[in-house]
This record gives sequence, structure tokens and C-alpha cells, in this order.
Amino acid sequence: MMSPHIPVPLLDLKPQYASLRVEIQAALERVAESQQFILGPEVEAFEREIAAYSACAFGVGVSSGTDALLIALMALGIAPGDEVITTPYTFFATAGCVSRLGARPVFADIDPLTYNIDPDGIERVISGRTRAIIPVHLYGQMAEMDPIVDVASRHGLSVIEDAAQAIGAEYRSRRAGSIGHIGTFSFFPSKNLGGFGDGGMVTTADGAMADRLRILRNHGASPKYYHKVVGGNFRLDALQAAVLRIKLRRLDGWTEARQTNASKYRRLFVAAGLCDPASPAAPTDDYPVVLPAEADRRRHIYNQFVIRALRRDGLIAHMKARSIGHEIYYPVPLHQQECFADLGYRPGAFPESERAAAQTVALPIYPELTARMQESVVSAIAEYYQAGAA
Ligand SMILES: *Cc1c(COP(=O)(O)O)cnc(C)c1O
Repeated sequence: MMSPHIPVPLLDLKPQYASLRVEIQAALERVAESQQFILGPEVEAFEREIAAYSACAFGVGVSSGTDALLIALMALGIAPGDEVITTPYTFFATAGCVSRLGARPVFADIDPLTYNIDPDGIERVISGRTRAIIPVHLYGQMAEMDPIVDVASRHGLSVIEDAAQAIGAEYRSRRAGSIGHIGTFSFFPSKNLGGFGDGGMVTTADGAMADRLRILRNHGASPKYYHKVVGGNFRLDALQAAVLRIKLRRLDGWTEARQTNASKYRRLFVAAGLCDPASPAAPTDDYPVVLPAEADRRRHIYNQFVIRALRRDGLIAHMKARSIGHEIYYPVPLHQQECFADLGYRPGAFPESERAAAQTVALPIYPELTARMQESVVSAIAEYYQAGAA
């Protein structure tokens, strides 16, 4: 039976705020009364809390997930002539920061099941100029870290985990951001832990590295007005830290709600006959939808619930007409971006990334999504494929 369609946004942050309004307003008021806006005790407390949550010794609060990546690369001394290996199927910042330092992003294709960098492709692109690897834990599921760390250590490379989408995710009982030399996080509002604006964090187990990161985020000054290195203003605001500290206490509950929503989608898609329960990697006429795969021994935190869909562009036009929220993360792999044309990659260079960019679409998965909303999403998708089959 088809449930009547109701509009469903991709993400609605208002119910979350409504449930925290009193606490958050008190925290904002506390910062306002202190009139201490830049770094300070709220930021320091939040750094300790994120470090503990992510099983890392140190956290350094910064202005965004992008700046977290940038100062991680700066702290490693990445410079013109260096190469950094990463995935072409990620948000732009991962590779953009490498280029901003004059270094060269070198791509390796993804595993089509998890959409994360395929460790088997990394060794082939290592050169004498390679300095680091940036695995990205895309959509909330960690990359296959053991072989990545192994290849990095055999070649003397640093590993930066881009954990912007993966706070609290686990790989073999280890937390995102705690396995590589450095982890980077984003508190952009649409991330699982989102602030009232931009914010980010860098994590590390290395005390000397943490000192270097703290100096870099504040114009390279240590002490004040004595500049050891050229850094920048990459500081986290106390107001953001105050809001994020309150939200962090709820994060595990929200993650469980996202996981529950993911299980509900699985049941609904199977019940609608849209996906093969044996979950192959490609959509077919019989089974036009491929659900997200959970790799072995992971805690997937479902920052996004991304399906592969037959005739994807037709499907999203239909979803749009039915007011069903959706987004393509990401429509153009990085090796095909105009600004990276000079890297010299050809179309077809990374077939799995290109296929993913052409076939995937993200569905609403936020914690407050209701059962009726999920039914509406799946029935709109079922309607599209029934019409196509008729
Ligand atoms: C969001 C995101 C970033 C950048 O974070 P900002 O806080 O928006 O600067 C970097 N990498 C990935 C994979 C992201 O999803």
C-alpha cells in the first residue's frame, strides 16, 4: 500500500534546536557575560571533550574543517613539490588544501562498496615526492585504515584522516581521527555535530604536533607577537565551542537515531522490492536501488544515507517534483574539476569515482526524521520505478 506523500526535507535542524533551546541559550549567555570570545576556557574544555570522545590525546579547535586540513598539512611541512595522495570522490576541501600549499593532489580510486579510497590503489601512485595520504571517512563510515597505515609506514608517509563526516565512527573498535598521525573534523551545521556556523578540530596523539598546530592556528606566534613560523587566524570561537559542548552530550543518541533510520530504510526498500537483499554493487532493471554497504567491524554514523539508483537523474527530478529532499555528494569527481585541469587527469582515469558520481543520491537521514517521512521517501522512489517499468 502506498502511503500518501508528505514533503520531506533533506535536513531540518529546527527540531534539534527546539530540544536544546534552554541549555543553548544559557550557554550563549554565559559566553556573553564573560565577554571572552576568542579561544579561552570554553574552547579548551571542548578540545578536551572532543579528544576524549575521539580517543585522542590532544584536540586543537580551529575555524572550520577546511582549516583543520590546511593546518594539518602546514604542520607536516607540506610545500611546493610535494605530493599528497587522496580520493577524488570527496568534498573539495580535502584536495583543495593540498593545492593551496603549492603541493600536488594525487588521486587513487575508491572502493565501489564503501565509496572510500581503495587501499590497493595507493601504492601504485606513490612517488619519491609523496609525503602524506589523506583517507576520507565518507558519509560516516571509516576507510579501510589498517592497509592504509601499513603502506604509509612502509614508505615513511604521514596519514591525515579527514573525519569531517565521521565523528564517533569506528574501525575495528578504533575511533575516527585516532588512527592516523592527525585527524581533522568539521562542525559545519550539516555534520553530525554541527555548530551555529563554521568550526573544526584537529586531533593528534603527538604532543609536539599539538603544540605546532596551536601555534599555526594563531599566526605562528609563541609567545604572543613573536612569530616562529607563518601561520594564520584559524581559531575557534568560544560561542561555537559553548554550543558544541552541549550538542556533544547528545551526539551518541543522535547517532543511534540515524542508525535506526538507516535500518528502517533497509526494511522499506526490501519490502518495496527495490533492492536486492544480496546487495550487489550496481543497480539493475530488476533491482534499481543499491543500499549503502556497511563494511566489516565498523561503526557507521550515517552522516549521509547514500544509495545508487538506476536512471538517477530522472529519479531526482521525480523526487524534486514530490518535494523529497535529496542531494548529490558529489556530482563531479575532483580529477574532473576545472580548477584541477592542470593535474592532467583524463575522463575515465577513476572509473569507480566517476560511476559513483553518476549513480548516487543522498536521502534524508537526520535523527528527527519520522516513520511517515521515511515511508514517503521510499514510496516516491517506488513510484518512479513503477512508472518507468509500466
Ligand atoms: C565538510 C567537509 C570538509 C570541510 O569542512 P568545513 O567545516 O565545511 O570547512 C572537509 N572534508 C570533508 C570530507 C567534508 O565533508
